[in-house]
Amino acid sequence: MENQFIPATSVNSGRVVSIKPDIHMFTVQIVNLFFVGDQQGWVLVDAGMPRSADNILKQTEQLFGEGAKPKAIVLTHGHFDHVGALEELVHRWDVPVYAHEMELPYLTGKKDYPKPDASVEGGLVAKMSPMFPTKAIDLGGKVKALPADGLIPPMPGWRSIHTPGHSPGHISLFRAADRVLLAGDAFVTVKQDALYNVLTQKKEFQGPPRYLTTDWEAAKASVGRLAELQPAIAATGHGTETAGQELSDGLAHLVAHFDEVAVPDYGRYVDDHH
Ligand SMILES: [Zn+2]
Ligand SMILES: [Zn+2]
Repeated sequence: MENQFIPATSVNSGRVVSIKPDIHMFTVQIVNLFFVGDQQGWVLVDAGMPRSADNILKQTEQLFGEGAKPKAIVLTHGHFDHVGALEELVHRWDVPVYAHEMELPYLTGKKDYPKPDASVEGGLVAKMSPMFPTKAIDLGGKVKALPADGLIPPMPGWRSIHTPGHSPGHISLFRAADRVLLAGDAFVTVKQDALYNVLTQKKEFQGPPRYLTTDWEAAKASVGRLAELQPAIAATGHGTETAGQELSDGLAHLVAHFDEVAVPDYGRYVDDHH
C-alpha cells in the first residue's frame, strides 16, 4: 500500500523546464521536483511520487551524465508525493537528506501524518485522497535537520524559509541573488483538489493542497511571508512556474483573499470561526 503507484497524472508529466540555467524543474505525474546546480555539484529538491525512482534516475543522467549523483537531497516537506522515490534514491546514491527539524518525526518513522480529509470542500482529487499514503518513512540517520539560521549547507546562496501550515516543518527555498523561490506546497499554481484542473494544469494561484493542510492560520501567515520576499520567479510543488507581474499579482491576490480563495468552507481541519 505505502509504495503503491498513484493513478493520477497531468498533461505536464515528464516535462522538464529550466527555470534558470542551473534550476531544472521536472514534473512527475502531478508533482514537481528540482535539480539545482551544475556538473560541479547539484542538489535534488524533493523526490516525487511513489514508484518514480527510475524516472528520476533517467532524468538525472540526461542532465548530468551517467552515474551522476547529487551532493544531497533537500525536502520542502515529507508528504508522500514529495518523498515517493526518496528511500530508493538514498539507497542508490548514499547522500544526506535535509529537512526542517519539525518534519523529522515524519521522516524517521516516529510520527505519521494526519489522514487526508476527503470531506474537505473540493473536487475529485480531494475525494480520492484517502488512498494517499500518510505513514512516515524511516530514513534513520540519513536525514539531518536544516540549521536554524536558514542556511542550507549543500546549497550556498540559498535560504530555507519556514512556511508551516501545510505541514509543521514545511520549508520554501529562496535565492536572493536572482529572487528565485521554490515554494513547495506553501502555495501552488493549480487547484490541486480538482481533478480536471490537475489534469490540464490550468494556472490558478491557490493556497496549499486542501486535503492535507491542517493549520490554515499558519498557512496564511506563510504565504504572507513569501509575498514579502517579492520573488521574481517562483516554482511550486504543483502547477507550472510563474514570474514577473503574473507572480506578484497572483501572490498579492492570494494574500488579500486567502480566506475566500484558499481556506475551504468546510472540512476536518477548518475552524468554526472561518
Ligand atoms: Zn504536501
Ligand atoms: Zn504536494
